[in-house]
Amino acid sequence: MADMAFACASCGAQLEYAPGTSMLKCPYCGHENPIAASPWSRVEEIDYATGLAEAGQAAPQETIQVVSCKRCAAEFQLDPSIQASRCPFCGTPIVLESRAVTHLRPGAVLPFSFDAKGARAKYETWLSGLWFAPNDVRRLAKADNGFIGMYVPYWTYDADTSSDYDGQRGDNYTRTIQDGDKTRTVVETRWTPRSGQVSRGFNDVLVVASRSLPSGYLDKLEPWDLADLSPYDQRYLSGFGAQHYQLDLAGGFEAAKGKMDPVIRGDVRADIGGDKQTISSLQTTYSAVTFKHILLPVWLNSFRYGQQTYSFVINGRTGEVQGQRPWSWVKIGIAVLAGLAVVAAAAMFFNNR
Ligand SMILES: [Zn+2]
Ligand SMILES: [Zn+2]
Repeated sequence: MADMAFACASCGAQLEYAPGTSMLKCPYCGHENPIAASPWSRVEEIDYATGLAEAGQAAPQETIQVVSCKRCAAEFQLDPSIQASRCPFCGTPIVLESRAVTHLRPGAVLPFSFDAKGARAKYETWLSGLWFAPNDVRRLAKADNGFIGMYVPYWTYDADTSSDYDGQRGDNYTRTIQDGDKTRTVVETRWTPRSGQVSRGFNDVLVVASRSLPSGYLDKLEPWDLADLSPYDQRYLSGFGAQHYQLDLAGGFEAAKGKMDPVIRGDVRADIGGDKQTISSLQTTYSAVTFKHILLPVWLNSFRYGQQTYSFVINGRTGEVQGQRPWSWVKIGIAVLAGLAVVAAAAMFFNNR
């Protein structure tokens, strides 16, 4: 049973992870407790088949208590110190409904490197960089102080691939043709069938296992300093939230294959050579597949403006901000209304004739 509470040795209050350090810090008396990594713990790759196996011979699992959001289906652990009235992912008021889930235990974590104050500063810099942002949007966005540090679940996969292909190689040549009393040259392509095999090893193909945030945002938070991953330790989660994965290990591997595919196709085209290539069939076998389940730090916030909720995300390591830009939606709204007004005016004009 994963319990997220760590008590202060000095006053008994709940300790929280202090971003940018390897310390748990007491928010009341300031007492610091170093997170000493046990000497035998390290970030490990786990065999994919072991990960898929049923409990018993399987990869390490844990049972956690999660709360869930009815609207976006996010399920997450939330530190008791966090008073969240709205879902950190979609901004919907949360009805706290908790249940236990058993899942593959994360193997590694990238701890937050700056705190909520730092997140706010980065967000405000981002906001002030938005041209034409209406002042009330800025004011509303600034008034909202609900920054929640959430560890977002990811999978990374390593695999050796070997791919058999059939295709065609196109070699260009020029031909001179008689056109009346002039001659001109045209470029034509001679196609010849080709087949062969390419192989490539992949390392740390990263797949987001959360579906509660627009994946485009999370993708744009890359790159992550995965070389700095720490072995999983619940203490890094103290004072933060942690999401339960929505894309499972097998689903994640399918997504990883999708990321490997264009790279493999590039290898095939290089192997075919010539000026043009077509690939008519491609069979890839994956071997030595291993995975890591990791948690990456993202500051989340959202605010309501009119009827709309605007979410944004901040990379908890680099400070990269991605989010919806409220001004553009306002402008689109005005443009749409203006368009409707023109249509309505035209309709009235023609009706009156
Ligand atoms: Zn204390
Ligand atoms: Zn939600």
